[in-house]
Parts: sequence; structure tokens; C-alpha cells
Amino acid sequence: MTDARPASGAIVNAMTVDVEDYFHVSAFDNVVSRASWDALDSRVARNTDRLLEVFERAGVRSTFFVLGWVADRFPALIRRIADQGHEIASHGYNHQLLYMLTPKQFREDVRTAKTAIENASGRRVMGFRAPSYSIIESSMWTIDVLIEEGHVYDSSIFPIHHDRYGIPSSPRHPYTLQRASGSLLEVPGSTVRLGGVNWPIAGGGYFRQLPYAWTKWGIDRVNRLEREPVVFYTHPWEIDPDQPRMRVGAATRVRHYRGLERTSGRLQRLLQDFRFDAISSVMDLAPSNAA
Ligand SMILES: [Zn+2]
Repeated sequence: MTDARPASGAIVNAMTVDVEDYFHVSAFDNVVSRASWDALDSRVARNTDRLLEVFERAGVRSTFFVLGWVADRFPALIRRIADQGHEIASHGYNHQLLYMLTPKQFREDVRTAKTAIENASGRRVMGFRAPSYSIIESSMWTIDVLIEEGHVYDSSIFPIHHDRYGIPSSPRHPYTLQRASGSLLEVPGSTVRLGGVNWPIAGGGYFRQLPYAWTKWGIDRVNRLEREPVVFYTHPWEIDPDQPRMRVGAATRVRHYRGLERTSGRLQRLLQDFRFDAISSVMDLAPSNAA
């Protein structure tokens, strides 16, 4: 028998996709101006459709954090994602790092995004994920804005050291943030704790570039030893080896382009090895109603 389907009693993990195009990546901000986005050849719809096929074959529901910019230009894509039973959430509008914004600019960005995504999907948005996980110590004020603008949970605080993001001392598993403006569920990026340090295990460049065994070991460890779900994340451009290459430095080139050809196959394997569902189901939040 080679049937490696996870046992039905296994922990259900959260699958998430940040729906953005290959040119939206924060590390390309210096070489791709926002003004040029509309002139570039978009690949987000076809790549997201390929992800939808992968999820459908595996019978998995995911949370799709949609960029408002994408929702305004490809509303039929967002409707397709929602109609296939996936959760629709927000990735902001303009993909700007939150710690570069003023509170006024951030409020404008999330409000515009939520409206665009709800209009395109016909569903209420509960969740938010910041571009490049950019909620850090100095941008914690964004939590108040998210609460005031009607979000129920956030999935942007990575408890690690990284050159662009992370709050290393923050909790590793879902927790409630209590603020003067109300409360918000935080669903952090997933890590294993080894030698007193948190190591990311579930998605992005780590998934493409480290051996698959690292991700598998990490998720298994969190599920079995800690009895907690992990939050896996990917992007439509991560399964597209043919995307146009940006003129960036060697380090950024490696970080963003290495391993693109193996991501789709690895993702399919991951969906066989573990159970996954949307964040709203894993966290038992009220189903999203019509917007
Ligand atoms: Zn993003």
C-alpha cells in the first residue's frame, strides 16, 4: 500500500494563498513602479486557476488573501475562487509595506481593498494579511485600524528574525490581541522552536528551496507534539517557472526565482501528506456571509 492519506483524526492545518501578480513582490519595489503595473503582462488569473485545480483535485479548501488591485481588475477570478467554496480575505490594496505608511494611508488602503474584494466576491471579508508580513513592533498600531475597519482576524505577525519582518518574541500559535479598539484574532506564520530560536517551516522561499523533508518534519512536529495547526502560505507566481524575470540583485534573484519549477509538485504532495482547510474553518469562525 502506498496510500499516504493522513488519518481522519489528524490535526487540520490552514492553507493560504496571497493572490498577487509576479511583479507585486515587495523586493521588486525599486525596479517596478506602481505606475507600471497596468502595462505589465498579468499572469495572476491563469496561475490562480492552476492553484484552484490543485486544490480541487485534493478536495482542499483554502483562504485566499486577495490584493484589492487584483480584485478590481479580475473580479471574475475572485468570484470563481469564492464559488468554489474557498474563503476570501484581504491582502490590502497596493501591496505597500505597512511600516512605511501613515495610519491615514493604511486605513485608506485596507478600506478600499475590503470594499473591492467584497464587491468582486459577494462575500464578507473577515481576515487580513499584510504585504510581506509587515506588522512589526513599530507598526502594531495597524491592529487598531484593522479592528475599526471590521476585520475579525489577522495573519501577518511572524514570530521570527528576518531582514524585513517579524516579532521574534510574539506567540507561535493563534492568540487574541486585546486593544482599546476591541479584539482581533492573530493567526501567526508557523515555526518550530529549536535551540531557543523560532524557525519558519510552512511556505514561501523555505518551501521552494529547502528539502521538502524540512516542511514535512516541521508540520508533523507541530501537529503531533504541540497538537496545534500550522498555517501554510503560497502565491500564484510561486508555481509559474515561466514568469518574466525582473532585473534584481543576485540575492533577491535566488530568493524569488529558485525552485519555482518544483513548487506545484511539492504542493500536491503536501496536500496528500496533511489535512488542510481555510483559516475560518480551522479557527471555527462564523462562515462568511454575503457582503
Ligand atoms: Zn504579498
